[in-house]
Amino acid sequence: MRSTAPTITVHKFGGAALADAAAIRRVSSILASDAAPYKVVVASAMLGVTDAFLDIAHRAAAGEQERAAIDVLRERHLATARSLGVVGPADATLQAEICATFDELQRLFVEIAQCGELTPAMTDAFLSHGDRVAARILATALTASGIASQFVDAADVVRAHGPHGNASPDIEQTARAADNALRPIIERGVVPVVPGFIGRSPRGEMVTLGRGGSDLTATLLGRVLGARDVILWKDVPGLLTADPRVVPDARLIPVLHVREASELAYYGAKVLHPRSLIALQAGTRLIIRPYADPAAHGTEIVVERERKPTAGRARRPVKALTAIADQTLLTIAGNGMVGVPGVAARAFGALERAGVSVSLISQASSEHSICMGIPAVAANAAAAALREAFASELARREIDAIEVRPDLATIAVVGLGMAGTPGVAARLFGALADDGVNVVAIAQGASELNISVVVEGRDASKAQRAIHSAFRLGKIGGGTAVHPEHADVVILGFGQIGRELAAQMAMHSSRAGEQVQARVVGIIDRSGYVFDARGFSAKRLKELIAAKSARTPLAGVRRGVHATAEEAIVAITAHALSRPILVDVTAGDTSPVLEQALAHGMDIVLANKRPLAGPEKDARALARAAAADGRRVLHEATVGAGLPVIDTIQKLTESGDNILRIEACPSGTLGYLLGEMGRGTSFSAALREAMKRGYTEPDPRDDLSGMDVARKALILGRLIGFSGELADVEVESLVPDALREVAPDVFLDRLHEADAQWEQRIREARERGTVLRYRATVTKREARVGIAAVDGSSSLASLAGTDNHFSFTTRRYRANPLVITGPGAGAAVTAAGVLNDVLKLAGTR
Ligand code: ADP
Ligand code: ASP
Ligand code: MG
Repeated sequence: MRSTAPTITVHKFGGAALADAAAIRRVSSILASDAAPYKVVVASAMLGVTDAFLDIAHRAAAGEQERAAIDVLRERHLATARSLGVVGPADATLQAEICATFDELQRLFVEIAQCGELTPAMTDAFLSHGDRVAARILATALTASGIASQFVDAADVVRAHGPHGNASPDIEQTARAADNALRPIIERGVVPVVPGFIGRSPRGEMVTLGRGGSDLTATLLGRVLGARDVILWKDVPGLLTADPRVVPDARLIPVLHVREASELAYYGAKVLHPRSLIALQAGTRLIIRPYADPAAHGTEIVVERERKPTAGRARRPVKALTAIADQTLLTIAGNGMVGVPGVAARAFGALERAGVSVSLISQASSEHSICMGIPAVAANAAAAALREAFASELARREIDAIEVRPDLATIAVVGLGMAGTPGVAARLFGALADDGVNVVAIAQGASELNISVVVEGRDASKAQRAIHSAFRLGKIGGGTAVHPEHADVVILGFGQIGRELAAQMAMHSSRAGEQVQARVVGIIDRSGYVFDARGFSAKRLKELIAAKSARTPLAGVRRGVHATAEEAIVAITAHALSRPILVDVTAGDTSPVLEQALAHGMDIVLANKRPLAGPEKDARALARAAAADGRRVLHEATVGAGLPVIDTIQKLTESGDNILRIEACPSGTLGYLLGEMGRGTSFSAALREAMKRGYTEPDPRDDLSGMDVARKALILGRLIGFSGELADVEVESLVPDALREVAPDVFLDRLHEADAQWEQRIREARERGTVLRYRATVTKREARVGIAAVDGSSSLASLAGTDNHFSFTTRRYRANPLVITGPGAGAAVTAAGVLNDVLKLAGTR
């Protein structure tokens, strides 16, 4: 290799990138926009052509005289050439070359038919024409589009040895040939177009490098020419975490170490030829990029070791998985093997002599058996080779048998960080067991770069999907092995309650020595969101609370993002979160956001009443969506703030009791107001005091209207079998008629107008030995809320301050209702109720 080599880029276009004339035109534009001064192009056969040729060659050997298939392919190539718009002598030359190729294929067809057998040498000769003819078409097309190009046959450049069908390149000889055949062309500024996949053997025969071999041609030419970049243009965004045809949520891996990529290629990832990376050298970047989106980053395969993951960042031991189908497991078992050295070595020696490549080896620690995974096509030859190698042990019964188990698949999980990360294997087997996949054999590579499992062939797809999701490979930051031990919380709404919750969680997370069960990773408000996959520190939460309290919307804070809530959910859940929970502490109509969250795997905690107190069909739809996705919706704070009201209803119902009636004073605000008036304070003074203490909504008419209590009544009612809408709840409003429509400040100025009427009402109640309370009464048939005069000696009468009260009359608690009383208003208790639900979800899954 010359050190003075100019900057060269090798571009390889796979079959899909050369599918038809339109695709070929795109190749021209990709090359035109590459700024590298010197380029080499490797072309593979047009889409599907190698498979078609293989099929035709087999048919020829089988004596099928049907040659029309060759003519169909001839016509496809001619038609492609015609649609490229090449004119004049270049066009005529290309048409003639295509015809000559297909005439040669006809001749080979006859030869194979006469022979009655398809030898590997004949197969290679036949297949080599697919990539060659494609390279000729491409070279002509490029030249016609203004990029000076020249077809250079791989026979003149790539030297290879080893078996037909799977030859290996000879790097030194290829380097020499390339110096002669390619370098002068490159240095003239002309782009050589070389067919991939093929080379010439020392005996002068055409050999192929194994299916997908044009990848190898590209890395080989990159190496011998000292190219800076080798770009493989494919029909996928790059190297993905799994085969996208099997695992639909496979994700692009932006950077991958060459050892990881090799392992994936070796274990069957079709996107790269298994040996293509052997030729890669430090100083050359290998990039897999989508031809449909040339500006995309794709996957970069690097030779240098990756930088260490920064401290605190989730480690990603598992990068990707792949599978090899059609595997057979050979097992050599017997007591005579225990402690006898060299059994494994002899077995591999025998298989190597038989030309069988072993994809997996696993030896039981008892040394009682050795398992080997091999391609099904080689099973008979391999079993015969082993029986011969161990003939005497078999005869002496030291080895019981060579067992053959067909119809299997090997799945490999790959990642450099797996070495020394505990729990990867456990997680892997857990995932397979959960999905009912039986593991036939296991092997861990000595490098600990991969763990391979052998499963039944029919389980292979299911197993890949299960493993992909167990390591959360479809997520940004996925690939972790340890069991998630905490919940990641996203807060929707950053008003009073949201900020109080954040403050409580900051305290919760900074308590020394305790394991964190829940942490805040995201906060969403009307403007946008903030997110940190590692969880916000207590300090950062305080910063955010302060900013928002000073009226800065989240989109405006450091690293804040403008987005709708739905967009925020999508962006946030693209990351590998642990037990994600969306906490809705807004007062808005958030149903679409909640649905989005459920669909993206989040559980939900609600303090917001609206999703449950809106139209019945919406509330039901939410419950159905949660059930369908296996998610949970907790909403303790929607009724009694921090009191265990919903929990009690659920426990009663679960234990087989039947709730007949609920009587409740679920409004701390109205409770306080009526209590104060009972003590002789005027309506206007009591309300002003409540406002001063922060017990009311900004416009206190929102509390006085009774709608808040009506929503709570509806939520309770729906839990015990009441079917109806908010409009079906009978509501008594405490807003004086004359003051319903006036502006808020006018309302406050004229409050005293209602004092006299209230004074009279309170006095009359007292004279009857009763006390006024704002009460909700709920049964399966009705729900109503309003003022009730309760007996002065009842428990309701003795409610103090903002206390809430709930009384359940059930089949079991008929004479003596079950009562829950306690503080029910204020951001602190509401946030505590929410946090309680969060911890409940974090602790139980
Ligand atoms: P080329 O056209 O260069 O020969 P291939 O068709 O051989 O490209 O390889 C691309 C195909 O590999 C994709 O279409 C995809 O179906 C398959 N594939 C399998 N595993 C992976 C993976 N881990 N990442 C990307 N593609 C994969
Ligand atoms: N045309 C060859 C094959 O299909 C080489 C390649 O596509 O990479 O295997
Ligand atoms: Mg390929």
